[in-house]
Amino acid sequence: ASLQLGAPLRSQFPILDQTVNGHPLVYLDNAATSQKPHAVLRALSDCYQEYNANVHRGVHALSARATQEYEDARAKVAALIGARNSREVVITRNATEAINLVANTWGLQNIKPGDEIILSVAEHHANLVPWQLLAARTGAVLRHVRLTPDRTQLDMNHFRTLLSPRTRLISLVHVSNVLGCVLDAAYVAEQARAVGARLLLDCCQSVPHSSLDVTTLGADWIVASSHKFCGPSGVGFLWGSYELLEEMGPWMGGGEMIQDVFLDHSTYAPPPARFEAGTPAIAETIGMGAAAEWLRELGMGRVHDYEQEIGTYLWERLTSLSPRITAYGPAPGDPRSGGRGRASLVAFNVEGLHATDVSTLLDHAGVAVRSGHHCAQPLHRELGVPASARASAYIYNTAAEVDAFVAALKDTIQFFDDVHGA
Ligand code: PMP
Repeated sequence: ASLQLGAPLRSQFPILDQTVNGHPLVYLDNAATSQKPHAVLRALSDCYQEYNANVHRGVHALSARATQEYEDARAKVAALIGARNSREVVITRNATEAINLVANTWGLQNIKPGDEIILSVAEHHANLVPWQLLAARTGAVLRHVRLTPDRTQLDMNHFRTLLSPRTRLISLVHVSNVLGCVLDAAYVAEQARAVGARLLLDCCQSVPHSSLDVTTLGADWIVASSHKFCGPSGVGFLWGSYELLEEMGPWMGGGEMIQDVFLDHSTYAPPPARFEAGTPAIAETIGMGAAAEWLRELGMGRVHDYEQEIGTYLWERLTSLSPRITAYGPAPGDPRSGGRGRASLVAFNVEGLHATDVSTLLDHAGVAVRSGHHCAQPLHRELGVPASARASAYIYNTAAEVDAFVAALKDTIQFFDDVHGA
């Protein structure tokens, strides 16, 4: 029987059933990290209780089983994103490491002085700093796509003006972790091809929430982190077409990534092993595979539909609470989003209040939201604020929880008004 989303799904997530500060927990910090279903918790404990052993090395039964489960996990991730071949999936520590891998392999091999890399002002620091480091080493020039004049999404007209024959790489966030806007990936991919540039998409906020197919997405690489799609932390992945991965030299050296080692040189294993030096996060990778399989069985189309529903409700309840609330990013039905909708997260500020004070008071009411710059400092500068609070929903959140959040926010605003008025 297929699982229903929302309230019926909550029994799969034991952590959700608790009180925080005397109130039922309302967990709305899913863009930072998601909670884990029984299927994932079981995969982790099965690994340690039944077959823990190092992978790819031993011939004994436990090692063979661990290796099989580890490689099955790779295949489950491949299936989640529509990859043709599981050898196109490189297991990394997280999305951040996956981007650094591309910068330090393909980037160092291909980027020359004066070459241009197109990023945007809305990137997570994970998609800014690795390219700054690469530019410092290679003499590349970083160009940044601006926001539209209303500051809700990336300005594709500006993007077009940045393209040139010197553009070698475009690396953009697929779904923004602050604005919630969804990139027109097909258009960007077409433009990238037209100038002969490679395209990397930061899919941290899209893999968990929508049905992706890397064979039609148009990207050369995508990256994501397991912990945001119901899997364990400490593991993520890089997907790249196999031909491209084969062109990429090694980054970290050590065991597992080699073919033959001599005292003064080595030959390297084919991808993905070439990029997986050292003992990997074995149980966590198996947990990531369990998460990918669990989500796929849940149905990513249904996940997307449910989140459009709850995300729209969240946006509408929040923005109609008070005229002092500024919510960032496009409104759910904004025609300029080209029918791509928006993520089920809302970053916001309340006029006159600090985002951190807002989230602290919400925590007193059992509501978990994040405040700060969400690892997007340049974006917050563009928005003209140092920080924002962010409520982000996932498959197990309910309309009643959105109501509880909005009621707690109303009390929070009232509390500070009373303090300031007193
Ligand atoms: N990009 C985006 C859009 C994100 O939301 C995040 C996580 N906040 C990251 C990159 C980095 O993910 P991680 O820290 O797991 O590498």
